[in-house]
Amino acid sequence: MTVLHNIRLVDPVGNGSPAPKGNGSTASDFDSSASTGAELVDVEFSSTITSIRPATNPDPAAARFLVPGLIDTHVHLGERSRLIDAVRSGLTTVVDLGTHPDSLVHELQADDALPAIISAGSAASAPGSTQIEMMGFPAESGVTSPDDAKRFLDWRVDNGADLIKIIIEDPAATEVPALSIETLRAIVDGAHARGLLTVAHVVTAAAFDRGLDADVDVLTHAPLDRALEPRTLDRMRECGTVVSPTLVMMRAMADARLGDHADAAFAVVFDNVRAMLAAGITVIAGTDANETPFAPVHHGPSLHDELDYLITAGMTTGEAIRAATSSAAEALNLRDRGRIVEGARADLVLVDRDPITDVGALRTPAEVWVAGVSRHRS
Ligand SMILES: [Zn+2]
Repeated sequence: MTVLHNIRLVDPVGNGSPAPKGNGSTASDFDSSASTGAELVDVEFSSTITSIRPATNPDPAAARFLVPGLIDTHVHLGERSRLIDAVRSGLTTVVDLGTHPDSLVHELQADDALPAIISAGSAASAPGSTQIEMMGFPAESGVTSPDDAKRFLDWRVDNGADLIKIIIEDPAATEVPALSIETLRAIVDGAHARGLLTVAHVVTAAAFDRGLDADVDVLTHAPLDRALEPRTLDRMRECGTVVSPTLVMMRAMADARLGDHADAAFAVVFDNVRAMLAAGITVIAGTDANETPFAPVHHGPSLHDELDYLITAGMTTGEAIRAATSSAAEALNLRDRGRIVEGARADLVLVDRDPITDVGALRTPAEVWVAGVSRHRS
């Protein structure tokens, strides 16, 4: 049992006070100016938060700030040491959207010193796709037809997948093989029937439309090629599609691949994210952290870079924190975390300065707890 005294809660949805469970809050409830708790509290926890009560000895000048553990909604796994870096940066959950073999995922998931790992394992793609080659996925990840979707999903479920990742290419824009709409639908419907969320890789505007046609839950990356059509934004809002744009990765990819065209391409990506935010679409924080030589992105610090990008694109600081905590958890159906409320997992980040007025404070946490166990202390 740990008790933290004289704490200000930074939990944008709850406006600092313990909120009822199964909250019906929406982004519009949120007011960044009110998001750091006015009341000083003592927080008691073991693996879950057991009590939040008024501070026994309130001392505003000495108060410290407690934030829900950060969630990176798009990573790839590799070296254990990289995930230690993630914990040091305040990440308590990472969502793996493509790692092979499954045995590596299971080994890292069993390692208590690391963030919690939610994993898709290998991603579904068209047989012969560049993703299979680039990410080192096995041949089984190639889905040949709608009928073959069942085999792929059974294979993923048998290997412990928590969600399903799909590579959606634009057949008109690339020479690489692309999954057909019928096959995409069979994968998404089958995943939903098994109670699993679907997340799709999409880097062109046409691929975004195909993701909507297939009824994918979360689209990741953002179009590099052109602005999303207003009707696409409307559909996304109507369908409740969530986007994890991975701006840090889009920047790294543009720099690695597009030479003189990199800045212009990134401007297209950035404007698309700005448009999604303006259209009221739920945007969550993800980085595509990975260790490939092609466009490496560092686990941990990159999530803070992503928050900076999201703020530049139009989020308030509180909204950006929410994009890496409560809103990420809600979008990915991780109902036990992302909030500082009694009963939630004790995934917590303690910082010395108010991150609502200085989001950079989150980069160097004073202490980080994963499920109530201190895993980093500065
Ligand atoms: Zn990725």
